Amino acid sequence: MEMDQSLLKGIFEKAASSHNKICPRVVLGGRIGLAGAEVMGMEVPRHDKRLLIILETDGCFVSGIEASTGCSVNHRTLRVEDYGKVAGTFVNVKTGVAVRVAPRRGVRERALNYAPEEKKRYFAMLKGYQVMPLDELLTIEDVVLSKPINSIISRAGVRVNCENCSEEIINEREILQDGKVYCQACAGPAYYQTSPNEPIATELIINHGMSSGLGD
Ligand SMILES: [Zn+2]
Ligand SMILES: [Zn+2]
Repeated sequence: MEMDQSLLKGIFEKAASSHNKICPRVVLGGRIGLAGAEVMGMEVPRHDKRLLIILETDGCFVSGIEASTGCSVNHRTLRVEDYGKVAGTFVNVKTGVAVRVAPRRGVRERALNYAPEEKKRYFAMLKGYQVMPLDELLTIEDVVLSKPINSIISRAGVRVNCENCSEEIINEREILQDGKVYCQACAGPAYYQTSPNEPIATELIINHGMSSGLGD
């Protein structure tokens, strides 16, 4: 099946508004977004929360996915599990059915065959990815999520406080340890550690910018 070039063009225009230049990874994102939605039998771009996409890297690729599917982090329909891979899993939130879409091995080299007139590899990929047949470009496989979809999505309005740092935790992301409720940072390992430096004096920042009513 041939790729509808006017559809892709519309996606690139949308992606360019957030990305400012179309690059090969934006194209891959656009095509992966369309292919994933199609196998899921879902029309895109979506304006609801039926489709959740879990991407395996951040960066340019995300612009193409967002523009083609309408999914986004702020709508809680897109998230990143950073494996450093240009790939993504499409989940039907109602049924939990999931497919994973990734570029086929050797896709860079194969793209060159679709743009033989381009001398630079970058431009050959940019063009090749747009016109390559789906089965040469991507692999699509059924997958089973390791966690139930309901626990991945969670529910609005649930919140608890960490018994160590007392910060609020939403979306049931707390950890239970010895009968106590902890945030993931306190339960560890966290992506950050507390610095040995003096804490930043927030009242100085506040007083500098606006009257807090607390100072002199
Ligand atoms: Zn880019
Ligand atoms: Zn905590």
